[in-house]
Amino acid sequence: MSTLIFNPSACVRSVTKFSECTKCVEICPVGTLHIADNNLPAFTPSACVDCGGCLGVCPSEAFKLKGFDPTEFFFSFATSDEALISCRLNVPCIAALSSEHLIALALIKEDPMVLDIGHCQSCPYKEPLYVQILKSVEEANYLLEACESGKVIRVEEVAVEEEDVAEDIDPNDRRAFLERLSLKGVVQSKREFEDAVASVSDETKTHHLDLVDVAKIRQKSLPDKRKILFTALKRAPKPSIFHTIAEEDISFASQKYIDMESCTNCQMCYRICPTGALSSNPKNSKIYFDTMMCIKCRACHDTCEPDSLKLQPTFELKEFFEPTQRLLATFKLVRCRECGVHFTSLHGEQTCPRCMVEEEEALDLWGLEEQEDGTVVFKTLQEDKG
Ligand code: SF4
Ligand code: SF4
Repeated sequence: MSTLIFNPSACVRSVTKFSECTKCVEICPVGTLHIADNNLPAFTPSACVDCGGCLGVCPSEAFKLKGFDPTEFFFSFATSDEALISCRLNVPCIAALSSEHLIALALIKEDPMVLDIGHCQSCPYKEPLYVQILKSVEEANYLLEACESGKVIRVEEVAVEEEDVAEDIDPNDRRAFLERLSLKGVVQSKREFEDAVASVSDETKTHHLDLVDVAKIRQKSLPDKRKILFTALKRAPKPSIFHTIAEEDISFASQKYIDMESCTNCQMCYRICPTGALSSNPKNSKIYFDTMMCIKCRACHDTCEPDSLKLQPTFELKEFFEPTQRLLATFKLVRCRECGVHFTSLHGEQTCPRCMVEEEEALDLWGLEEQEDGTVVFKTLQEDKG
């Protein structure tokens, strides 16, 4: 039975129905993860092979595996003398670690870190996990170099075999591997997890949001991997110069601007942002953005109807070391002459959008129509005159 647990309240697709995130679906090597009719990821536990690829790519850490918690792994590996990461030694698959984990580990470890890809070519789940591993390492090494860290993550065909692997365990069997990890005491919430697994059948498992989940969605929070990266960056020396890199070269953070011609200050982007990277002031007359709190989940872009939120084509690495909150937009608020509520006046309007709609509906109901000079006449009189 698979040991994968999905937390629907952490999935970006829960914060907005417009989210187009399918990262977990794309990485699943056995094709069991899919987007169900309720717009959330679903999978069949008996088909899942517990590789952890979805843990590695999910921007918001919506998945967990029994026996492998990337945060626990980070702290145990960072404080150990071990420099080798291998699917036969300490991870279900190297792809279970994100590039943020790799960067943070490389920065913290004294010795150069080595990733063992010696089993990848014979792994039945090579596609698309191997490609993802190489992508994450490439990104991590590029950023480590741009930060002048002097650290390089090496990828080698070590093909380590764990000495105490029982002969009857298939080396390609992720579940058996995880079982061994759990026996070693890596699992901290084993009983809790087993209760959850006991209720899982071999049918496709869909997930629904309950009231507790909805309350959790409203609480903005950063994933553990971002906190880990902050910890590692704080300990790293600052580079001699802060380089600028291309936007597409960083998968986990972004810099943005707002097209003021089209933005209507509808408030959606900062209301749905799961981390609080986008925020506003109490009057909702400003939009702020904190680059290092952004997980590049794209929920704000997918939700912005006029497509006003844009990615900056470049990313300033200064943000890694000196994070800032930037003001992206300021709006003029006026008091509605009808209802007295403050609203964003984009083109000098004196009536809020809601009162405008109500006014139009009332005029229509009474058979009236407003002329260009502001006078109101019966539609029939107007037609008679014509
Ligand atoms: S946010 Fe995570 S769980 Fe949700 S669709 Fe994206 S990758 Fe999958
Ligand atoms: S600002 Fe970043 S974290 Fe917030 S919704 Fe947009 S992409 Fe996601």
